[in-house]
Amino acid sequence: MQPIPFNRPLSLETGLDYMRQACAAGHLSGDGPFTHRCHALLEELLGAPRVLLTTSGTHALELAALLLDIQPGDEVIVPAFTFVSTVNAFVLRGARPVFIDIRSDTLNLDERQLDDLLTARTKAIVPVHYAGVGCEMDAINTIAARHEVAVVEDNAHGLLGKYRGQPLGSLGRLAALSFHETKNFSCGEGGALILNDPADAARAEVLREKGTNRAQFFRGQADKYTWLDVGSSFLPSDLLAALLLAQLEARAFIQERRRHVWERYAGQLQDWAEDNDVRLPTVPAHCAQPWHMFYLLLPTAADQQALLEHLRREQIMAVFHYLPLHLSRMGRSFGGRAGDCPVTEDVSQRLVRLPFYPGLSEDDQARIVEAVRCFRCGRRSFAVPPPPKARACG
Ligand SMILES: *Cc1c(COP(=O)(O)O)cnc(C)c1O
Repeated sequence: MQPIPFNRPLSLETGLDYMRQACAAGHLSGDGPFTHRCHALLEELLGAPRVLLTTSGTHALELAALLLDIQPGDEVIVPAFTFVSTVNAFVLRGARPVFIDIRSDTLNLDERQLDDLLTARTKAIVPVHYAGVGCEMDAINTIAARHEVAVVEDNAHGLLGKYRGQPLGSLGRLAALSFHETKNFSCGEGGALILNDPADAARAEVLREKGTNRAQFFRGQADKYTWLDVGSSFLPSDLLAALLLAQLEARAFIQERRRHVWERYAGQLQDWAEDNDVRLPTVPAHCAQPWHMFYLLLPTAADQQALLEHLRREQIMAVFHYLPLHLSRMGRSFGGRAGDCPVTEDVSQRLVRLPFYPGLSEDDQARIVEAVRCFRCGRRSFAVPPPPKARACG
């Protein structure tokens, strides 16, 4: 029995061709021809005035924090249920993270709690579109505008997803994308910062190029380049942009495969979920999801552990997701305490993500579905594994 991984990166022939072309063209550093093609394509897909590739989603968020001039003592509102980089990018600049709990339906930040958490020191709100399902952006943007704080979308999961017909990533002042190997479109490690306010574009370009106007210089808009601002090096090699461009161009194929996997899970696990008190992902009617992830919310923490263990025995690599950030060592150092974000604390102990990638074969997915369907919630242990041929369930 072959193990089924949680994720398997997609390798495209075009990606290899493009990398060969990039090598032959001799521009291996950042901002070469393939980077420009990725920028143009992403700007078109998002309707954004400017998109800049970065070396990771983490770096896109760090670039956002630099651009917003986040200072020590500033506060940034972030969900407790997210990846560390959502928060770390702002903490690096000295900000204090203010953790907000999530909604129990979409697992996105609970916008109804924003008013209570905003203070005179709040500089930004960072909604994360969990599993690529849009946060309640109308409410978030209204509150943010009233308090004059910036909205930075962490759209690592949500490229090509929509909220009320608008692309995720086009709704905040800034938005971050990730092209890590676990995301829908990937070049191994990569990301992008989306600038939805044209007024941010010129400075973002400088911060991303070591604080210099080198990008202007290469366009012939300056006769020398020099140090203008703070900054760092956030440009990926054009080789990685070549790999990424091939994936972005194959988006229809990739998304169709992912949709197929998602719908098969949802269709074939629905009755089992109802029988076992398991909740499948919630996608509100006004959100179009980009098929990033398929998760199960089990009735109890014991069920989560037992299902993960059961699937591991079947050589199926299912995984949990985020541990509550406010209860991590860093989160506690900012005052996080048990009970602060009860929905996050609860969901974190009950969520299981199933293997999900465009190359997941029908046979492998059938094996996963069968293994899940053999699992009964409420059983305390699987101490005696069922013999491989004579399964306990029929
Ligand atoms: C993947 C991810 C990131 C970071 O992206 P990297 O490209 O791995 O740095 C940030 N936020 C969320 C929600 C993510 O899932």
